[in-house]
Amino acid sequence: MDCEESLPLLSDYHAGELDEAARDGVRDHLGCCPPCDGIYHDVETIVVSASSLREEEGISFPDENVIWQRMQFN
Ligand SMILES: [Zn+2]
Repeated sequence: MDCEESLPLLSDYHAGELDEAARDGVRDHLGCCPPCDGIYHDVETIVVSASSLREEEGISFPDENVIWQRMQFN
């Protein structure tokens, strides 16, 4: 799996929604590709902070997939 294949899967990978083959492919790629691994950590941070803010403040944040799409297209 290369960067182009794995990047769109990171959000689902984090959510645990990939099948086993895709999950292994992403995990292997993250293990050997520091830039993608860094992006994955950014996704984790955004998801965690957005959901904790949502719980604490009662503010309606865009869901994780919307955030992820913005990151890709910026
Ligand atoms: Zn990569």
